[in-house]
Amino acid sequence: MGNEAIARGAWEAGVRVVTGYPGTPSSEVIMTFHEEGRGLPIYVEWAVNERVAFEIAYGAAIGGVRALVTMKAPGLNVASDPVLSAAYSGVEGGLVILVADDPGPHTTQTEQDSRWYAKLSKLPMFTASTPQEAKDTVKRLFRVSEELKLPVIFRTTTRLNHAVGDVVLGEVEERDARPSFKKDPPRFVRAGMKWNLERHAWLNGVLRRVEEVASSLGFNKVEGSGEYCVVTEGVAYNYVYEALRGLGEARVKVLRVDQLYPVPSKFLAENLSSCRRVIVVEELDPYLEAEVKKLAYEERLGAEVMGKEEGLLPLEGELNPSLVKGALYRWLGVPQGQESTPAADVRLPERPPPLCPGCPHAFSYIALKLGIARAGYKLSEVPVFGDIGCYALSVNRPIEAIWTEHSMGASISMAMGLKVAGYDKPVVATIGDSTFFHAGIPSLIEAVHKRVDMLVLILDNRVVAMTGHQSTPSWEVTESGRQARGIDIVEVVKSIGVDEVAVVDPYDFNKMVETVASMIKRPGVKVLVAQHPCRLMEVRQLKTVKKYRVIEDKCTGCRACVNVTGCPALYIEDGKAKIVEDDCTGCGLCARFCPYKAIVEVGGA
Ligand code: SF4
Ligand code: SF4
Repeated sequence: MGNEAIARGAWEAGVRVVTGYPGTPSSEVIMTFHEEGRGLPIYVEWAVNERVAFEIAYGAAIGGVRALVTMKAPGLNVASDPVLSAAYSGVEGGLVILVADDPGPHTTQTEQDSRWYAKLSKLPMFTASTPQEAKDTVKRLFRVSEELKLPVIFRTTTRLNHAVGDVVLGEVEERDARPSFKKDPPRFVRAGMKWNLERHAWLNGVLRRVEEVASSLGFNKVEGSGEYCVVTEGVAYNYVYEALRGLGEARVKVLRVDQLYPVPSKFLAENLSSCRRVIVVEELDPYLEAEVKKLAYEERLGAEVMGKEEGLLPLEGELNPSLVKGALYRWLGVPQGQESTPAADVRLPERPPPLCPGCPHAFSYIALKLGIARAGYKLSEVPVFGDIGCYALSVNRPIEAIWTEHSMGASISMAMGLKVAGYDKPVVATIGDSTFFHAGIPSLIEAVHKRVDMLVLILDNRVVAMTGHQSTPSWEVTESGRQARGIDIVEVVKSIGVDEVAVVDPYDFNKMVETVASMIKRPGVKVLVAQHPCRLMEVRQLKTVKKYRVIEDKCTGCRACVNVTGCPALYIEDGKAKIVEDDCTGCGLCARFCPYKAIVEVGGA
């Protein structure tokens, strides 16, 4: 997998500090270190959020040690504040920031194109096209970073992070990993105008050297020759390669740009000078396209440059071989004929992703809805703000609980915003434990400080579940085996000074409903911590798990079990409910809602 290759590349480069925050599609880099790197002299830990992760890696790098920090695209937004300052102060040891964009977007709230961050922060950015190149690139980027004394950004996309391919392993570099740090305020103190102006001038000077350093390390490539030129990068290069191989067209030259910022203008100008027509093939925004058009104008290349702005390729969504092939054929004026593969006319049924069988969040959200109703409110008048995490799947049928899911930690502040604007009914913010630690704490402080009436439901399943069960600050032993101090979320909440705190196991369903019903009516900031481990994690730890089954004779096919819980282990066939025994985790939620007592524990009557 691309992410495993990146981990291997960093290890081969002699990395000593690896940190990050879980986020698909980047998570497996650190997970690989945890699985394969036990005993290595490397600090590998998840951090509470991406800003903190970056600052840890940065602290190591200014001490001359090689460090890697990983995050998905929105994580770079969180880390952006120290990242921008780091461009002025620079590093001594190589620092690679891996940021994984998600065209599609498969698992991300936006199709953020993080290439713009390179321009904004003035940090060099590179990419790769295959798992082998990903491994080799991350190794070379430590050298680029040390040569320039700047952090560098390695920007990937989902298809590269999760691509599978053979990778040739290399030697692990032996390096002196003892950190040292010399006092140098003009370089590391970003408080003075004079120093900041000097460092900005230094940074602009360094940026002029990036192409030379990159080219000495073999970045940026040309294939073929001709007057028709394709400029491409990253995963899109693979689609271009496939399309042109099928075409057998001799007029096409391909320029693969690995150096995304600053774009290699010398390389591009030299290789585009003989081109008559140019197409830019890239995912997400027409970033390279704008750069190539600017260059064509400035260098008077005389070539016609086309791409997304001319409608040859879409501005949204992932590219794929067929889209790229269609664009290239139109651009070349070649009929697609038998080359084109007609799209299959298959309409799959809609399958919104559900919460897992036995998920404690399902208990919490169903109880929340019942509690709101029991308190005498209509569900349509009590906004339930959601947050980032697997519990956001509660937006789907049949639970349909949350009204918003915006960004990490936003549930509490957005609920507060509506309330301070004058909303006269209760508001509820729901947030997972990891998201609360990541970004929810300042929001809760704000709500408490301003004495806002609201109910905050913290869904504490003691793990970062959606991205593959990573640790939270509540763990006392981390994945690497490090003895940690577990942070008690309830103590944190109490220390902020909320008006009321309750802790309930959502599997204690009636208590959960009652607690919501009583808390929601009272004034002040009330926090209900719904504490039950992620059921998938719990089942793995339990030796035996009870199961439930449907007594066919009693089942009337009323669908109440399916319609209330949405449990994916349940389905209706021939007018009767059925339970997939292997998938059932024995939570008993469905049995609670069967009006005919037709669902029983295995062995029950
Ligand atoms: S007991 Fe019912 S709700 Fe719980 S996992 Fe099994 S089938 Fe699903
Ligand atoms: S709620 Fe009970 S009776 Fe209704 S479909 Fe489910 S098992 Fe059958």
